[in-house]
Amino acid sequence: MARIGVLALQGAFREHRAALERLGAQVAEVRLAADLDGLHGLILPGGESTTMARLMTEYALWEPLRAFHARGGQLWGTCAGAILLSGEVQGAPPQFGRQDSLGLLDVTVQRNAFGRQIDSFTTGLDVRGLDGAFPAVFIRAPAFARVGEGVEVLAEYEGQAVAVRQGRVLATAFHPELTGDDRLHELFLQGCLTPA
Ligand code: GLN
Repeated sequence: MARIGVLALQGAFREHRAALERLGAQVAEVRLAADLDGLHGLILPGGESTTMARLMTEYALWEPLRAFHARGGQLWGTCAGAILLSGEVQGAPPQFGRQDSLGLLDVTVQRNAFGRQIDSFTTGLDVRGLDGAFPAVFIRAPAFARVGEGVEVLAEYEGQAVAVRQGRVLATAFHPELTGDDRLHELFLQGCLTPA
C-alpha cells in the first residue's frame, strides 16, 4: 500500500487527503520534517504560494523536502504547490522580491497566468496518459512559461503548458482534487509504487 503525505500548512490539503483515501492509500498530513519519514510520495496542495513558502521557512521544511526528493520520494504539486516545486517563479508581487521555490522542476512558472477577468474556470483537458478529457479546475492558476529539456508536457491549455512531469516530480496548474475525478491521483499513486 502506498504511504502518501500531503503538505498540510495551508490550502486544499483535506481534498487531496480524501481523494487518496478513496483510492486506498495510507495518508499522512505533513507539517514537520519528521512527518516525511517512511513516505513514498508527497503532494503539495494549492493555496497561496507566498504564504506556504513563508510557513515552509517557519517550519524549516525547505531542505527536508529537497532531501525527500533526493532519496527517491515522488512529489506532486497542484497550483500553488506546482509554483513551489519550480526552478523559477515569475509574477510575484514586486514588494515580496524574488520568490523562493524548491527548484526540483526545470521550468519557469508564471503565477496567475490566465488573467484576472477569468480567475476561475473549468475546462475539459486532454492529459497524456489518461483516456478521455479531464475536468480541470483552474483557480488563479499558473502556467509553465518555460519548460526545460528534460521536462515532459502532459497537458496544454491555450498553448501554455499546464501539466508537466520531470522524473519523480509531477506538477499541475489546476486542481484535480476538487473534481471527484481521481484519475490523476491514481496515476501519481502508480508512480509512487513503481520506483523511477
Ligand atoms: N495564485 C496562487 C499563487 O500564486 C495559486 C492559486 C491556487 O493554488 N489555486 O500562489
